[in-house]
Amino acid sequence: MKLCGEIEVRDREETLINLDPIQSGGRLTAEAMKAVIAYGDGYSVCDACGKPFRLDTIKKPPLDAFHRDLAAFVHMDVARVMPGARRGFQAVTHTLVSPGQPVILTALSHYTAFLAVESAGGVPREIPMDGNHRITGEEAAKTLEAVTRESGSPPPLLMVDHFDYQYGNEHQVREIAKAAGQYDVPVLYNGAYSVGILPVDGEALGVDFVVGSGHKSMAAPAPSGMLATTSEYAGKIFRTTGIRGDRTNRTFGVKEVEMMGCTLMGATVMGMMASFPHVRERVNRWQEELENARLVARALSSISGTAILSEVPRRHTLTRADTLGSFDVVARTHKKKGFFLTSALKERGIGGLFPGATRVWKYNTYGLTRRQAEHVAASFREIAKENGIAVM
Ligand SMILES: *Cc1c(COP(=O)(O)O)cnc(C)c1O
Repeated sequence: MKLCGEIEVRDREETLINLDPIQSGGRLTAEAMKAVIAYGDGYSVCDACGKPFRLDTIKKPPLDAFHRDLAAFVHMDVARVMPGARRGFQAVTHTLVSPGQPVILTALSHYTAFLAVESAGGVPREIPMDGNHRITGEEAAKTLEAVTRESGSPPPLLMVDHFDYQYGNEHQVREIAKAAGQYDVPVLYNGAYSVGILPVDGEALGVDFVVGSGHKSMAAPAPSGMLATTSEYAGKIFRTTGIRGDRTNRTFGVKEVEMMGCTLMGATVMGMMASFPHVRERVNRWQEELENARLVARALSSISGTAILSEVPRRHTLTRADTLGSFDVVARTHKKKGFFLTSALKERGIGGLFPGATRVWKYNTYGLTRRQAEHVAASFREIAKENGIAVM
């Protein structure tokens, strides 16, 4: 069915249980869908914009209150909405990092963290992971020490994921922040896979910046996200313009440089705001989400030749599986080759895995009901049995 012209209707979320690793936390609520339609026109939130003409001060719709709610949500002082977590990283690197300076990130950092360092002219220095694919406070301290010794002064920034995108493993943010504190190095907490799906307390973690992704974890349209910080850093990161036109002498009020004035001016911020009451509640149901994740991981582990590469028991719903010794063996002789698995899952109403994936792949159970999780678990076991793989 076509929406119009050559654009097809997208019905993945309606017709399948979607296990796509990056999509589950960004599914819109019904409220967000309404907001997207009502505020779809261009600069729609600017209807009632008045002095001082900045997004976070608009009262109708209540974007000012929404900004305060976002800051409180992650236990920080000031927040801004951003076009994606990546633009949050970039606002921070552009403020704190000068060309040639080292920036500490990790062996599991997302490419957008690297690009944020690159766009500021920084030089990446990775904290290595341990044997369990975890970033520890101890390794962070060693890297801080080495980088500080080499460059003669501490690095301007350390960025760390609470949960990484490859394994969905939990990293020692609090311990890492503690180590960074000893060198007076500010810490950016990357909550792309946490803010909006589990409780996050930036103050308790001792971090200076909390970045979240609206379209990954806050049931919001893309591109959306947030950057929150302490009152100590707010004046730096959210500094206002100081430039003046040389012929016209024009100045630009309180526009914030790193925000390029205003960021999300229509459907994105309104979708994010409309979902927020639901998002704020759903983080309290994280334990149930983990039970579903563990149930599916256990089912996969019960299939001979299959390994869960992420930490077990699961502490996140994003999981990396290795089926080289099970489904991939079947794929070698199956007439559908590697597509047999995605095709067998589709017959059972399950989708979202990388098509043809039978080797090492990721899935995310976030947002499934218990019944759906049980169906997914049973389906993997059934497909294995049907193809002659031993199941325990
Ligand atoms: C998805 C992801 C990002 C990028 O988030 P955007 O909101 O799309 O910019 C950054 N870091 C991690 C760990 C991610 O998983």
